[in-house]
Amino acid sequence: MTDVLIVGGGPVGLFLGSLLLQQGVAVRVLEKRPGRNAHTRAIGIHPPALAALDRIGVARELIGRGVPIRQGFAVSRGRRIARMPFAPVSSRYPFVLAVPQPVTEEILERRLSELDSDALVRNARVTGMHDDGGRVMLSVTTDGTFSSCTAGFVVGADGARSTLRTLLGIEAPEKLYPDHYLMGDFPESSPFGSDAALFLEGDGIVESFPLPGSVRRWVVRLGKPPARPDAEQLAGLVARRTRLHLDAAANTMLSSFSVRSRLAARMVSGRTALIGDAAHEISPIGGQGMNLGWLDAEALLPAITAVVHGKPSIDLLRRFDSARRRAAVSARRQAEVNMALGRPLPDGLLRPRNAAIACAAALPAFNALVARRFTMQ
Ligand SMILES: Cc1cc2nc3c(=O)[nH]c(=O)nc-3n(C[C@H](O)[C@H](O)[C@H](O)COP(=O)(O)OP(=O)(O)OC[C@H]3O[C@@H](n4cnc5c(N)ncnc54)[C@H](O)[C@@H]3O)c2cc1C
Repeated sequence: MTDVLIVGGGPVGLFLGSLLLQQGVAVRVLEKRPGRNAHTRAIGIHPPALAALDRIGVARELIGRGVPIRQGFAVSRGRRIARMPFAPVSSRYPFVLAVPQPVTEEILERRLSELDSDALVRNARVTGMHDDGGRVMLSVTTDGTFSSCTAGFVVGADGARSTLRTLLGIEAPEKLYPDHYLMGDFPESSPFGSDAALFLEGDGIVESFPLPGSVRRWVVRLGKPPARPDAEQLAGLVARRTRLHLDAAANTMLSSFSVRSRLAARMVSGRTALIGDAAHEISPIGGQGMNLGWLDAEALLPAITAVVHGKPSIDLLRRFDSARRRAAVSARRQAEVNMALGRPLPDGLLRPRNAAIACAAALPAFNALVARRFTMQ
């Protein structure tokens, strides 16, 4: 029996757990994995998410463990055709922070445990739920043993294949895209230092971002999924499209992904809310999924504290639901624009398209507007 149960101890569930504990709300985070997910997925933390993370006191440590990316370049045929500062130097966080997701999760988990060392319950898989209108009961399997937990409010932060969303019967239609990507980390050998670079080339985009430890991530668009991720293939594609050479033998991470999106029809149902990927899966091309989840958590906080303290909460939950679904639609649209920008183009269209991008980026107001869209400001 506790105030709030959070299903899923990924970055979004861990963050919400700390936010609630700081408000004096008793929390258990139920996570089916025995340990942290070591897969490197998200790397970009945007300025509004850093401000949210600062509320639980982890922004400074994250900045110390990451690389602040202050600007990005669009490159075509070896020429820098546009430059985009990500935020005005006067802003609180004038950069996008690059940190591998496992490091972010380590820091979030440590903060949660500082606030309550029992808050995170691992090996706890949620398999059923019942909302009697007053309390919500979850069925949990822990190390092969069945038990039940009860709370005044439940949050599903259990990822794109959310069990809670299924148990609530909330639809989240899947949208598939013709975009596939091969990505890998290599020792830094580019001339871009701590800047991001987007190579707008005829065979498809190559994206590249600095990571801590003098490492750079390279992401290459493909028309179909690779048979299996291969460092030589990735280095070959980067060389062909960008004329930059990577040392395939020194590759430290290799992965491929295909893109889909899903938006849940509702984020609130009775005394339960969905946040993060459970509510909206967004294409990684745009780098907003995890950030969106943290901002969901921050937006949900007043409604949960109202529920827990027996104050009126229906309007707060309704406002949360519509505002955060609007934010997800906008992030999905941004990711779709980014993916369209990365598709192959014949030379006759590529040149005028890139020339138009160069002209538009030279207009300060337009440049700043696009930067705000990219960085969720
Ligand atoms: C290649 C790639 C690159 C990306 N890059 C970026 C980026 O740069 N920026 C960005 O913002 N986003 C990015 N993303 C998206 C980001 O990784 C996700 O949005 C983020 O992980 C979502 O966090 P979450 O906590 O909502 O869900 P998850 O990270 O999926 O965590 C959900 C947790 O719930 C647990 N769980 C599931 N079911 C149950 C159950 N029944 N009982 C108990 N526990 C359960 C899971 O084990 C998991 O730990 C990227 C994604 C990919 C694939």
